[in-house]
Amino acid sequence: MFIKDFRGWRLENSRTVTDSCANCHNSGEHFVYVAPVGFQMGVIFSRKPLLGAKKYFLACPVCGHFSKELSREQALAMRR
Ligand SMILES: [Zn+2]
Repeated sequence: MFIKDFRGWRLENSRTVTDSCANCHNSGEHFVYVAPVGFQMGVIFSRKPLLGAKKYFLACPVCGHFSKELSREQALAMRR
């Protein structure tokens, strides 16, 4: 699973976490990435904003690999 498959963004004002990437073996700071769920369907078939439909991941800054999925609570706890 890679960032280019999602239209998401980096969570602002969040801490990074030291983790190891299973894809490129970078063992450095991973950041919190927010990916809206059903983004394309929402845009094409609905004019309503997608509220609360987001997924959170820890992402590798080198290759964009998602090392793990975070719960909403875990992701928001990372905010400064
Ligand atoms: Zn990586």
